[in-house]
Amino acid sequence: MKVLVINAGSSSLKYQLIETEREEVITKGIVEKIGGDAEFSFTDRSGNKIKSKVGAKNHTEALKVVIDSLLDKENNFITSLKEIDAIGHRVVHGGEEFFKSVLIDEKVIKSIEKYAELAPLHNPPNLQGILACREILPDTKQVAVFDTAFHQTMPESSYMYAIPYELYQKYGIRRYGFHGTSHRYVTMKAAEFLGVKSEDFNAITCHLGNGSSIAAIKNGKSVDTSMGFTPLEGVVMGTRSGSIDPAIIFFLMEKENLSPKEINDILNKKSGLLGLSGISNDLRDIFAQKDENPRAKVAIEVLIKSIRKYIGAYMVELGRVDAIIFTAGIGENEWHIREGCVEGLQGYGIILDKEKNRATKGKLADLSTKESKTKILLVPTNEELMIALETKWVIG
Ligand code: ADP
Repeated sequence: MKVLVINAGSSSLKYQLIETEREEVITKGIVEKIGGDAEFSFTDRSGNKIKSKVGAKNHTEALKVVIDSLLDKENNFITSLKEIDAIGHRVVHGGEEFFKSVLIDEKVIKSIEKYAELAPLHNPPNLQGILACREILPDTKQVAVFDTAFHQTMPESSYMYAIPYELYQKYGIRRYGFHGTSHRYVTMKAAEFLGVKSEDFNAITCHLGNGSSIAAIKNGKSVDTSMGFTPLEGVVMGTRSGSIDPAIIFFLMEKENLSPKEINDILNKKSGLLGLSGISNDLRDIFAQKDENPRAKVAIEVLIKSIRKYIGAYMVELGRVDAIIFTAGIGENEWHIREGCVEGLQGYGIILDKEKNRATKGKLADLSTKESKTKILLVPTNEELMIALETKWVIG
């Protein structure tokens, strides 16, 4: 089956055309700067990146550019639109309503609109992507795959905040969690790799990228996660603070005379690794200065400690941990961080094979010693493939 995976952002439209049986990407690309000086890039059959300027004023025009490229005779990706069996959309927020991926109809569209209140930067462009597909491919089935859905199995004790209960009832203020597609994918791949059934599998999944979140997986289901009502909560991220004392917000608003938007910008865009180090949100730039710049060193240490706190908390929550899984940009590529996160845990049966860890990058691997009771795994994530597979499973 060929599934077109769409990830529509405010000014971009990313896509992959995936053959689900072979789990093969036929082509992928992105239209960027939609509404401005739009640019299109895609990979051709030989894997070369082809770039061009295009005049895409909105998401529908951007999608037309994508479709033209898919149908282009020279590219030879598909010969007719009928070859696209379904479209899978990444949708960030599904509120409490969606605990799995669904076929998109009028009712689903209304709900995605409704949850824009909870994800104002993401749900509206996600919806524009859906509407563009409806316009251009009206007969093709479309599926919504929500970032929040995998975490809908969390118990109340994990998702409720200890603030007045009425605020949960009035505004839906609770932990939702994000990166669900990635946590689900790496859980599935890790269980396969270890030869255990998902239903019997307990794990701590560490998605460490520019945005990061950690999840506790019990019997294959998410029972807790570090991101909360929004993606701001949890571990230290590229530009997000992660969890801080909420009183800092009021203190700063008063002292610096900040508006809610200004403090929101500080915590989401100027904090985290960038704010601490003053160098960059990219860990590679920070590592480059770790020996001479004390702020680089402290940024790395605070990052590692923030991850360790969740690992510790979830070990207690799960009781038995079959695997600790590292994924995403940092988790897949930075051995220092993986080592720092599981250092000194021998007493808990978590033993890293340091040499193997240092030598491994970006590929599925067991990084623990034979004696380790808890496996330490590197599992590269693939959110697009997960969306394609979910889409296939939904349309049957
Ligand atoms: P996003 O959350 O935007 O998808 P990524 O998963 O790509 O981000 O993660 C970005 C982070 O991963 C950066 O801090 C970067 O330093 C790190 N990273 C990404 N690729 C590599 C790499 N090849 N080697 C080392 N670090 C990497």
